[in-house]
Order: sequence, then C-alpha cells, then structure tokens
Amino acid sequence: MINPHLLQCKRSYLFFEIEQRVSSFRQKHPSANLINLGIGDIALPLAPSIKDAIQNAVLQMSQEEGKKGYGPGCGYRFLREAIVDTEYKKYDIDYKEIFISDGINSDICHASDLFNKDLTVLIADPVYPLYKMTAAIDGFKNVVSFDGITLLPPEEKGELIYLCSPSNPVGVSLSREDLTKWVQYAKKHKAIILYDGAYADFIQDSEKPKSIYEIPGAKEVAIEMRSFSKSAGFTGLRCGYSVVPKELVVDGIEINRLWELRQETKTNGVSYPIQKGAEASLSGQGLMETRAQIKEYQASGAIIRTFLEKQGETFLGGLDCPYIFWKVNKPSWDFFDELLEKANIIAIPGSGFGQGGEQYMRLSTFCTQTQAQEAIQRLCALK
Ligand code: PLP
Repeated sequence: MINPHLLQCKRSYLFFEIEQRVSSFRQKHPSANLINLGIGDIALPLAPSIKDAIQNAVLQMSQEEGKKGYGPGCGYRFLREAIVDTEYKKYDIDYKEIFISDGINSDICHASDLFNKDLTVLIADPVYPLYKMTAAIDGFKNVVSFDGITLLPPEEKGELIYLCSPSNPVGVSLSREDLTKWVQYAKKHKAIILYDGAYADFIQDSEKPKSIYEIPGAKEVAIEMRSFSKSAGFTGLRCGYSVVPKELVVDGIEINRLWELRQETKTNGVSYPIQKGAEASLSGQGLMETRAQIKEYQASGAIIRTFLEKQGETFLGGLDCPYIFWKVNKPSWDFFDELLEKANIIAIPGSGFGQGGEQYMRLSTFCTQTQAQEAIQRLCALK
C-alpha cells in the first residue's frame, strides 16, 4: 500500500547524527558557548525593506479594497517580471518562463514528475543530500555518481543531471569552460540539467558564470533553480523559482508547458505577502541591503580562509560560495568530535555528503565576522 521507495529511505542520517552528538555534548557541558558553522542557515535578521513590504502586504489584505484570495499557481506577474528585469532580461527570458515556488527544495523534488523513472540520473559525490533522497523516493533505479570535487561530466551517459554550482558542499563555482562542457555533454546525450543556483549571488569572481544561460545553447538543455533563501534571508519565509525556457523541448514537447501544468495542478502558489517581500528584495533598496548581508558572510569567509591558508591547510571553496571544504586528513566524524569537544565548534563531516567527502569537513561561513574571528582563535588553540 505504501510507496516502497519511501519506506527504503532513511531520515537524513547526517543531521540526525549531528543533533544527537551535539545534544549529548550540551548535556555534559551546559555552559559551553558553541559556534555553529554547520547547517548553512542565515545568521542575520531580515532586511528592513523586505520586512516593510511584507507588513504592508498583510495590511493591504486586511482592508476591503486590498483583499486577496488564491493567487496564480505559477506566481504573481509582478514578481516574475521583477526577476526577469533583475536577472534574466539579458538572456532574453520572458516572465512566463519563470515559475515561483516556496524554494529550490520543492522544485527539485517536483521536477521528477516530468520524467520517466527509467532514465539514468547523474548525481555528484559528495553532494547536497536532497538529490539522492528525492531520486530514491521517486523510484529512479539508475543513479550514476560523478566526481563532486572536480564537478566535471563523467564518461558514462546520463539523461537527467542534478548539477549545483556554486556547489554545496565543496564551495566552488564552475568556470565558463567547465560549464560549457556540461552543456555540450547534455546536448550530446539529449540530457536535461537541473541546475541548482542557490548560491549564485555569492559568486565574487566576475569571470564565473552566474547563470547557466550565459553558456550558448543552455536554454535547450537546462532548467535553472534559484532561491531567495540564502541571498535575501528567506530560509524562514520560503520563496524561490525555476526558469524553464521555451527552447527546452523533449520528444517534441515544450517542458515549459508541462511545468506550468504540473505546478498549477499541484500547488496554489506562494502567499502574496511573501512574494511582495521577494519583489522588495529585488528593488534598489532591497538589493543594497541584501548585498550588504552577503558581503558580511563573504567577509566571514575571508577570515576563515585566510586563517586556513596561513596554517598551510588544504581546502576548497569559501570565495564564490559560503562553504569551505577543508581537507582534514582524518575520518571526518572523528574530526567532528574533536572540533566539538576541544573547540566547541559545530561543522559538518564531509562523509555525510557521500563517500567522496570522507576526510573533509564543511565549514559554513553564514556567520558574523565576530563569530568567524572567535572560531579561528579556537581553531588556533586546537592546533
Ligand atoms: N540547494 C542547495 C544546494 C542548498 O544548499 C539548499 C539549502 O541549503 C537548498 C537548495 C534549499 O533551498 P531552498 O531554501 O530554496 O529550498
């Protein structure tokens, strides 16, 4: 009676195990002042212009002339157009190719509704665990891993590709040349790329593509997913979107049409106040405020990176992405315990993202500069 694939899926072992270890540490050391460089959640409060827009929208809805009922399932036109104006006009993308959702996680999970479950799916290792979980729940049988450190296409043929750049957990962003290899790979194998750009706004290197649509031909092979979660502090508000270009045609069928059908069937959309908040984050004032927050996280990343560099440590990331993947050269769960007990720092063991992450630790730079300074002092003492 129950979906057998779901029954086989375990609750994410990684975060459960971290919670257990941290809570047993807290019981033994109730006064310990822990620094959390683990889960990549925001560390700063909501920007004022977003707060004002949400408050005004709620106020508007409480008045007769401003009341709102169900909104369009694919998102209000004002937000779809604001996204085009800010991000996608240069790629000649229209608002009807933008679909508003409550975030990338939902879009990643729902995307599989469109595809046959006998496709060969490509997923990196190490990787953001959601991709493997959703592929398993949906019953994809042929799942092939590719190298999550280099993030380059494998030799094997894949048909549905989960690609994340800037990448979680490795923290690096694909170069134009390497992203071009993926677009060519997808064309050669008639594959579709689900391109997770959750951290696109963190890219500092102006040579790195922020969108896959900077690569010629990408509109014919890729769906790009973006989120307000990390770039505008929406992890607790929930808003994101997928870009599904009209040029993406499979077996003679426009994927854009199917995406619209699926989305309008399965959801009644994101609430009006949250979409007004997302729109405000793209206004001149909103962008100024949220970019200042991103700069704060980047400055924290720079503090940790500089420290690791000075110590002669090997690591990836932290420049174009708020994660640092630190090669610790010991079993990553052992290092997790050492960091927790001796430095009172929570980080994520790389092996939790797949075998390819063993002997690494992921440090999130979603922290204030003060926290980052405190963390490096503790790491120094640990040495
Ligand atoms: N994609 C990646 C790579 C992430 O790291 C995360 C969150 O950590 C998400 C998606 C989730 O995004 P959202 O909050 O929009 O669901």
